[in-house]
Amino acid sequence: MKVKYISWGTGMKIGNTIYLNQKLKKLPRLHDAIMEHELKHSSSWSGKDMLLDFTDFELGLKIDYWKFVFTNPRAWFIFSPIIRMNKRWSIDITLMIFYLIMGGVIGCLYFVI
Ligand SMILES: [Zn+2]
Repeated sequence: MKVKYISWGTGMKIGNTIYLNQKLKKLPRLHDAIMEHELKHSSSWSGKDMLLDFTDFELGLKIDYWKFVFTNPRAWFIFSPIIRMNKRWSIDITLMIFYLIMGGVIGCLYFVI
């Protein structure tokens, strides 16, 4: 397991590398919480990982997390379903599915209203 610090996003795991925003170094509590979440992910994407992101509320309920996201515009890239990393594109399947569901819900509401 390797840890790399980058200038955007919050935290993510690709293969055996965990990428964390370098600004988290100044926020040890949030740093460790995000690290803990990323460590729960498997190296290759599976349904379990998706379930983890939808059920691991510990991180999503942290005010520190959202404070960090809203005060660091570059952290918002973590919500992009397609990212470019190490000169190749990768797709966040969990986010893709999430946006499809959201799109479906909004589409249905549009028809109802
Ligand atoms: Zn996750």
